[in-house]
Amino acid sequence: MSVATPLMRQYLEIKADYQDAILFFRLGDFYEMFMEDAVVASRVLGITLTSRNKGDEDAVPLCGIPFHSSQGYVAKLVANGHKVAICEQVEDPKKAKGIVKREVVRVVTPGLVTDTDTLEPKENNYLLAIAAEDDVYGIAHIDITTGEFRVTQVQGLTQVESELGSLRPREILFADGDASVDVRKKLAGVIDGMMLNLLPDWVFEIEYAADQLTTFFGVSGLQSFGCQDLPHAQEAASAVLYYLQQTQKDELRHIRPLQTYHTRQFMVLDDATRRNLELTATLQEGKKRGSLLGVLDRTVTAMGGRMLRHWIHYPLVDQQQILKRQQAVAQLVDDSLQRIELIEALDGVYDLERLNSKIAMASANAKDVAALRTSLQRLPRIDDQLLVFAGGEYLKELRAKIDLLPELVDLLEKAIVDDPPFVLRDGGIIRDGYNEELDELRSISRDGKSWIARLEQEERERTDIPTLKVKYNKVFGYFIEVTNKNLDRIPEDYQRKQTLSNAERFITPKLKEYESKVLGAEEKLVELEYNLFQQVRLQTAAEGRRIQQSADALAALDALMALADLAHDRNYNRPTIDDSGVLNIEAGRHPVVEGMPLKEAFVPNDVELDNEKNQLLIITGPNMAGKSTYMRQVALITLMAQIGSFVPAENAHIGVVDRIFTRVGASDNLAKGESTFMVEMNETANILRHATDKSLVILDEIGRGTSTFDGVSIAWAVAEYLHDNPAVAAKTLFATHYHELTDLALTRERVKNYNIAVKEWNDQIIFLRKIVTGGASRSYGIQVGRLAGLPDPVIKRAKEILQNLEAGEFGKSGEPRLGESRNKPKKQPSSQLSLFNTDADDVIRTKLESADLSNMTPLDAM
Ligand code: ADP
Repeated sequence: MSVATPLMRQYLEIKADYQDAILFFRLGDFYEMFMEDAVVASRVLGITLTSRNKGDEDAVPLCGIPFHSSQGYVAKLVANGHKVAICEQVEDPKKAKGIVKREVVRVVTPGLVTDTDTLEPKENNYLLAIAAEDDVYGIAHIDITTGEFRVTQVQGLTQVESELGSLRPREILFADGDASVDVRKKLAGVIDGMMLNLLPDWVFEIEYAADQLTTFFGVSGLQSFGCQDLPHAQEAASAVLYYLQQTQKDELRHIRPLQTYHTRQFMVLDDATRRNLELTATLQEGKKRGSLLGVLDRTVTAMGGRMLRHWIHYPLVDQQQILKRQQAVAQLVDDSLQRIELIEALDGVYDLERLNSKIAMASANAKDVAALRTSLQRLPRIDDQLLVFAGGEYLKELRAKIDLLPELVDLLEKAIVDDPPFVLRDGGIIRDGYNEELDELRSISRDGKSWIARLEQEERERTDIPTLKVKYNKVFGYFIEVTNKNLDRIPEDYQRKQTLSNAERFITPKLKEYESKVLGAEEKLVELEYNLFQQVRLQTAAEGRRIQQSADALAALDALMALADLAHDRNYNRPTIDDSGVLNIEAGRHPVVEGMPLKEAFVPNDVELDNEKNQLLIITGPNMAGKSTYMRQVALITLMAQIGSFVPAENAHIGVVDRIFTRVGASDNLAKGESTFMVEMNETANILRHATDKSLVILDEIGRGTSTFDGVSIAWAVAEYLHDNPAVAAKTLFATHYHELTDLALTRERVKNYNIAVKEWNDQIIFLRKIVTGGASRSYGIQVGRLAGLPDPVIKRAKEILQNLEAGEFGKSGEPRLGESRNKPKKQPSSQLSLFNTDADDVIRTKLESADLSNMTPLDAM
C-alpha cells in the first residue's frame, strides 16, 4: 500500500482530525493502524509490525487486529495513556461506489471509557474540567458510564486539590490559554498520571458556556441546575460537554441533568488527610483492603459500592441530614431479619446505572438487556420489604423513589429469551410469540430443516442406499452425497454437482426449491430479530430517567444496609450528633485495626475534646505504644458519625466538625522531590491557615524532620498558636516525642496531657495500649529498638551512652559531644521555656523600664 492510493488518502484525511489519537481504521474484518500509530500500537500491544511495499521509499508501517476482539486492545492502549479513535465503514461495501465511506464514530479516552468490563465496578471513572480565574475555580466532572454530571465552584487551589483527591479523575480538561499554565504548574503533583487535554480558550467563555448548557439540556435557563450565578462552574461544565461532543458520536441521552454542589455542604478533607486516614486506599499499597472503605463496604451492588465511596469522601456537616441517614441505619440495625431479607433481595440486582448507559449508547447486547430485566424483576420484592420501614423518613423516601417499571418488565419478559447469547447477529434473542412474522419465519426454517431430514430418509429408501446423506455447505447449499460404490443406484432425477475422490454430490429440483425457502427465511429471520432487538433497546432507553431514579434509590439503600450490617456485626453504637462542639468518645476502637489479626486484643480508649477545657491534648508515649492508632481512631469515628454511620465505641457524642486535618508521618510527596521537612511544614502551614474552632486537627510528631531545638520550638509555637488564637482554636490531638511540650499545660488552660501507658518489667517494656492522663516519663527508645531486633551489643552501648548523656558526662570514652545545635537534651525545657515565658520577661522589662539610667553607676547598671 503506498501513500498515493485513494484508500491511503482517505486515511490521511481522517487522521488529520485525530492527531492525538491512535486511529483504528476499519478495513473489512480488521482495524488497521498505519505509520506512527502502528509503531506505537505494536509496541504497546505486543503485536507484529509489518509494512506494505517493503524496501520501497514510500513503505508504510502497518499493524492490525481483528475487529471482533478489539475491546481488549482498546482497553490496553487506553490504560497506557493513549486515546483511540475508532473509524468505521459507514456504508455497505457492496453498495459503495469507489472507496467505502468511513468515519470516526467514537474516541475512547481514559476518562471516557464506555466498555464497562474494563472498569472497577465499585469505582467511578471520571472526566473532569477546571475553569480558572483569579483563584476562583469551576470544577465539573462526569462519569459517562453512569451519566452523573456534577459541577461546583470553589475558592483557592487547596479546594481544587481536595476535589481532585476525592474524585481521582482519569482525565482533565483545561483551557489552552496562558491562564491555565500557572494553575497546571501548581497542581503538577496532584494531576500527575492523569491525562491532560487543552481545549480552545473560547470553549471556556461564559456566553458560549451558558448557551451550550441550555441547548444540550433543552432548558431556557440554568436556574434548575442551581449554577446560574456560578460562571466558572458553567464554563467547566461546558468544556465537558464540548469534549463529549468531540469524542462521542453516540447518543448522549443518558447524561443526567447537571447537578450543582457546594463544598461547604460537606466536611472538608484535604488530599493529605484523605490519604493519611486511609479512607479508601492504604498509604503503603494504595489498596482498598485495609482502608476504612475496606471495612465499611458490605454493599452487594456496584452502585451501592460507588455510593458508599462517595459518602466517605463527602461526610456531611448538616446535623439534620446526618440524623436522617443515621435513623435509617438504626432502623436497619434493629430489624436484623428484615435487613437480611432485603440484602438478599438486593443481591441479584446488577449495575443498573451502567446497564442503563450502555443501553442508551447502543453498546448494549442482549445479555445486558436481560440483566436489566433480572434486576427490575427484583424490585417488587424490595419494595415489599421496605414497607416495614415506612415509619422512617429516609427509607420511606427511598421506597417512593423506586420505580417498579412494570410495563418495561413486561415488555422485556415477553420479548427477550431467558438466556440470550452475546452476539446480536446470530439470532436466538427474541422469544417465541413476541412477533408474528418472526414466528412464521422460524416455523418455515424449523419445518424446512425437518423436511430435509425427512427427505434424507425417503431418498435412502427410494434408492436403497443406506449411507446417502443430505448435507449443506456455503458454496453449494443443500446437496445429496452418495459414495462411489453406490453410484450405480442413483435415480434419473439426480443432477451431478461435484465429484470428490470417494463420493459424488447431487442436487434435485425439489431440494433446491426447499432450500431457497429455508435459507431465505433464515436470512430474514436474523435481520428481523436484530431489528426487533433494536426496537426493544430503544423502548428501554426511553425509560432511562426512571431507571436512573430507581438505581439512585437502590444505591443509597445498599449503602445504608452495608453500614447497618457492619454496625450489627461489630457492635457499633449510634452516636449522638449535635452542634455542641464536643467530641466525647467512650471506649472507642479503631475500625480497621480492631479487625486485623492482632497478637493482643484491641484495647478501647476514651477521648474528651471540647472548646472549653480540653481543646488540645498533648499525647506522649514511646514509639509503638499506639499514639497514631489512637488519634486516627478519633478522626475516623468522627468521620463515620458524619456520614451517618454507627461507630466503634460504647458511647459517642459528636459535635459536628467542619474539617479534619492531619499531619502524619512521612508523605509520598517525597517522590516528587520535596524534603520530608518541607512537606511537613507545608501541611502544618495549611492547617494553621485554615483551621477553625469547629475543626479537628491531628498532629503526629511535627518538627521531627529538623534538629531537636528547631523541632521543639516549632512544635511548641504551633501548639500555642492553635490554643491562643480563637479563630483557629481547633480541637487538636498532638502526639509528640518532645516531652518538653507537656509543660504547655502549666500555662495554657485548655491544654491537657495524656500518655499511652507502658509497663516496665525486667528492663523490657510492655505496651498497655491504654490512654491515661499525664505526660510520659521516658521515651523507651532503646527498649523499642530491642523489640525491633537491634543487636545486643548495640543496645548495650546505647544504654551506656544514654546514661552518660543524662549524667552530663559528655565525651567520655569517645562518646558524642552534643554541640551547639544538639545540646544536652535535659536542659532543653528550661532554656526553651524561658524564651516563651512572657511572665518572666515582663518582670525584667518593667524593671528595666523603670530604671533611672542617668543617675546610675556602671556597677548599678550591671
Ligand atoms: P505509635 O504511633 O505510638 O508509634 P502505633 O499507633 O503505630 O504506635 O501502634 C503500633 C501498633 O500497636 C499498631 O500497629 C497496633 O498493632 C498496635 N496497637 C495500637 N493501638 C492498639 C490498641 N488500642 N489495642 C491493641 N493494639 C494496638
